[in-house]
Amino acid sequence: MSACKDKEQDPRIEGIASTIRVVPDFPKPGIMFQDITTLLLDPKAFKNTVDLFVERYTGKDITVVAGIEARGFIFGPPIALAIGAKFVPLRKPRKLPGEVISEEYVLEYGTDCLQMHIGAVQPGDRALVVDDLIATGGTLCAAIKLLERAGAEVVECACVIELPELKGRERLNGKPLYILVESG
Ligand code: AMP
Repeated sequence: MSACKDKEQDPRIEGIASTIRVVPDFPKPGIMFQDITTLLLDPKAFKNTVDLFVERYTGKDITVVAGIEARGFIFGPPIALAIGAKFVPLRKPRKLPGEVISEEYVLEYGTDCLQMHIGAVQPGDRALVVDDLIATGGTLCAAIKLLERAGAEVVECACVIELPELKGRERLNGKPLYILVESG
C-alpha cells in the first residue's frame, strides 16, 4: 500500500494508507482484498479521508454525491453533508423500492448490476461518484452511465484506493478520477 504519488506532500495520506488491511485470497483465491474496515477503526484516518475529499469538492458546485453499494455508502454521505449536496445510493438489484434504471457491469470477481431510483437525479445535476476502490473500473463505468442517462454531468469519480495494474482508469472514458492510495 502506498500513497498516491501526487499526494505525497500531504502527511495525512500515509496515515490513511497504513490503516488499510490487505487480505490475500478473499473472497476467492488470487484476490488481494483491500479491507477498509480497519481504516474505519481509526477515527483520525477516517476523518482525514473524508476531509481530503471534502476539501477537494467544496465550492465545485457538486449537487449530488452518488455512492456505490456498499462501501460508497460509508464515504459518500459525510462528503455530501459537508459540501451541501444530496446523496443518492446506487444499489444492487432488488434493493430500491421505487422505479429504477439499471446498468450491468463486470467485477474483478464476477458480474453484477447497479440500479438508481428514477427521479433521484435531475438533468443539470453535477455529480460526484464515490466508492472505496477502483479495480477494473466496471463498477464506476456503470455508475457514470446511470447518472448520465438521468441527465447529470459527472464531474469526477473519487475512491480511497486504486489498483493501478488493472487499468480501471482507462474504462472511465476520460472522466477524472481522484484517489488517495495506490495498491498492488
Ligand atoms: P471494479 O468494478 O473491478 O473496479 O471493482 C470495484 C468494486 O469492487 C468496488 O466496489 C470494490 O469495493 C470492489 N472490489 C474489487 N476488487 C476489490 C479488492 N481487491 N478489494 C476490495 N474491494 C474490491
